[in-house]
Amino acid sequence: MEHCKLLIIGAGAAGMSAAHSAWEHGIRDILLVDSRACPGGILPQCSHRGFGKALFGEEKTGPEYAAFLSSQLTESGVPFLPETDVLSVSPDRTALLSSRGGLRETGFEHLILATGCRERSIGELPVCGSRPAGIFTAGQIQEQLNLRQRRPSGRILILGSGDLGLIMAGQLHDAGCDVVAVVEQSGRCGGLSRNYHRFLEPTGIPLMLRTTVTEVCGQGRLTGVKLRQLDTGKTINLDCNILITAVGLVPDQALIRRLGRPEWLHLAGNCHHVHELVDSAVQEARSVGAAIA
Ligand SMILES: Cc1cc2nc3c(=O)[nH]c(=O)nc-3n(C[C@H](O)[C@H](O)[C@H](O)COP(=O)(O)OP(=O)(O)OC[C@H]3O[C@@H](n4cnc5c(N)ncnc54)[C@H](O)[C@@H]3O)c2cc1C
Repeated sequence: MEHCKLLIIGAGAAGMSAAHSAWEHGIRDILLVDSRACPGGILPQCSHRGFGKALFGEEKTGPEYAAFLSSQLTESGVPFLPETDVLSVSPDRTALLSSRGGLRETGFEHLILATGCRERSIGELPVCGSRPAGIFTAGQIQEQLNLRQRRPSGRILILGSGDLGLIMAGQLHDAGCDVVAVVEQSGRCGGLSRNYHRFLEPTGIPLMLRTTVTEVCGQGRLTGVKLRQLDTGKTINLDCNILITAVGLVPDQALIRRLGRPEWLHLAGNCHHVHELVDSAVQEARSVGAAIA
């Protein structure tokens, strides 16, 4: 069985920064793995500016930020294992890795979990109806639009006015898509005000506050939704073909659920808690890497 001093799961902003910091502080026997082909995590699909004000003094795009961290990593020489899923982590300090070459076990002294977060899906919401085609999370649409240049067609409704909902409303509008509204159950916009002013305000897309989706309609394909105005109890039928959910991010700690908190386990980035700004995830990860060294 192969063995390393420090295994890092996830090569997003946090995993790359933790790896670079640990290397700078003298740890040489590091292995960084990610299920994707390239490092960067969520960053390559975030084509908007808004990343790195604290680190660079100016706002970069997600891909530019990822390229900077990736070049740091290459310079340091930390080995990166792409297209490798970590399937499980055991209390005896071994991880089961799966790649095209098959399964293999890797032993380690310390583990940094940097697996990011996952999006809450429609299945986690109290929404009636079947699950027809045409319902996506905001991250899925962002990946299709920015990495595969695939534009959704038809009338689009976005549920949730957090940063991801606002960014996608603006990007879809700029790509020529028909976004009919952003719906938000609370009484105020959920995202950063800078994102509201940058992405939603200029588009004229209505933000429907104190409103939520209670039912999805359509057999096989989505044809519309039922909205409820929470203050009046009034129901509105709205025709739409695409429903995008942007209803929250949850730290992804699935791999360590049964492990407790042994002293060799460290968390960095969005799998620890969701960071609104990448600079904060990077700062946290750098401290984790340094502390282990
Ligand atoms: C849509 C969106 C917009 C944002 N906009 C901004 C912005 O404008 N400005 C800003 O500063 N910040 C922004 N952020 C926040 C910032 O981008 C994130 O906080 C940061 O990039 C998170 O990095 P991370 O490394 O923790 O997670 P991620 O980037 O999600 O990386 C996690 C990595 O772990 C890998 N992984 C997960 N599980 C496994 C496994 N079992 N085996 C192998 N690999 C695994 C994944 O493939 C992924 O590459 C935004 C975030 C999002 C989602």
